[in-house]
Amino acid sequence: MGYPNTQLYINGEWQDGERDIAVVDPANEAEIGRLALAGRSHLEEAVQAAARGFATWRRTSAFERSKVMRRAADLLRERAETVAANMTREQGKPLAEARIETLGAADTIDWFAEEARRTYGRVVPSRNEQVRQLVVREPIGPVAAFTPWNFPINQAVRKVSAALAAGCSVVLKGPEETPASCAALVQVFADAGLPAGVLNLVFGVPADVSGFLIAHPLIRKISFTGSTQVGKQLAALAGQHMKRVTMELGGHAPAIVFADADIGLAAKLLAAAKFRNAGQVCVSPTRFLVEAPALAEFTERFAEAARAVKVGNGLQDGVKMGPLANVRRVEAMERLVADAKEAGARVVTGGERIGGGGYFFAPTVLTDVPQSARVMNEEPFGPLAPISGFSSYDEVVAEANRLPYGLAAYAYTTSTRTAAAIGADVESGMISINQQGLGMPETPFGGIKDSGYGSEGGSEAMEGYLVSKFISEGR
Ligand code: NAD
Repeated sequence: MGYPNTQLYINGEWQDGERDIAVVDPANEAEIGRLALAGRSHLEEAVQAAARGFATWRRTSAFERSKVMRRAADLLRERAETVAANMTREQGKPLAEARIETLGAADTIDWFAEEARRTYGRVVPSRNEQVRQLVVREPIGPVAAFTPWNFPINQAVRKVSAALAAGCSVVLKGPEETPASCAALVQVFADAGLPAGVLNLVFGVPADVSGFLIAHPLIRKISFTGSTQVGKQLAALAGQHMKRVTMELGGHAPAIVFADADIGLAAKLLAAAKFRNAGQVCVSPTRFLVEAPALAEFTERFAEAARAVKVGNGLQDGVKMGPLANVRRVEAMERLVADAKEAGARVVTGGERIGGGGYFFAPTVLTDVPQSARVMNEEPFGPLAPISGFSSYDEVVAEANRLPYGLAAYAYTTSTRTAAAIGADVESGMISINQQGLGMPETPFGGIKDSGYGSEGGSEAMEGYLVSKFISEGR
């Protein structure tokens, strides 16, 4: 099956937009399809549909909501092969990663479908025998959700599943560069029997769409995944309109390797994590901080793993890293590597664009990178791994916590004492020790500091879509 064109989905109907734009395959820069962009009238229609959808969905029992969601999850599993192939074509990631993302999304829907049935309230003992005091959880209302291109389904499914489970309706602004995956997700909900208007999908000029939706009085909640810079703008706008916000923003994860760690294991797992999705992952390990006695061995093993990564078109067998998703990322990698080299860094492997066409960049390892180099301070969002040494626990904790980011962190050590200490001392929303284990549907996912607030996983994710109402009832 060919790659599909993508329309807007408003009030249960797929429809054309105001104009359309090209969707490009990042592996060869060829146009593979067209995408409809919404004008203001489409956005207004989508919000009105979401308001009507909310009126229906909030009164649909949690059991019924759960059933619709589980049907959607099953449909996504049935369609996983086609959905994954289209994701690879529009985003570039290897087919195996696209499959994992699609099947993982079905798990996420299932998990939140179950959670829908557990939005318990409570009874608070009253001071007066004649009074009953209840705390009930109600859906907050229509949600505007903004999702990026790095995980075209995963980023959307986390928001959509938690919102639908809570009883909210959604206007989802999907990623313009990778729209078909998002549309396939919306289609499974439609085919599972989600009432019209409960989930709407729009695309457009991002700033115009967010400006319209965030300010709209019928929208009650904003959820955004993307860069810290844009997140701050949207949070400020949401503040002006007193809208609740979940912000899942950038990171610059420290990956700390103590000398007592299993260095081979650390290098293998961290390299796999670094080059997954070509490093375009908000929780990607970024600053590799290795205790001095293990620095040479770790660097050698990590560089070996980087050289072994087969880069190519994600549809081809055996490819472990595809192209970057767009030309902006390639240019950003070139700028960061040039800046690091100028500051005195050494390129151990990679460091340049590869391939005759498409947005390919070599898996790159840098050493001797001064702390002032941009790559040590800005989220690279690509396949760059700067490795530095450290000589004391306090020094590495200070370095790990130096940046305003606080999303993910990783540590490797065989000392249970060090593991416990590092778990406590690193300022991050998530830390994974001696393994790579973040991002399950059932566990919290989110950051602190400039990495945002709110959670996109676990029962915590439901909180963002619920309000507590206190009912005091005299007999
Ligand atoms: P960008 O900051 O312009 O866009 C990031 C995402 O935000 C895109 O999906 C885009 O459509 C959206 N966006 C941008 N401006 C918006 C606005 N005013 N209103 C609503 N949505 C808006 O840049 P980019 O080149 O697409 O990505 C660059 C950086 O974004 C990366 O370096 C990375 O730091 C960050 N990013 C983070 C994630 C994540 O998972 N947290 C995902 C994608 C990009």
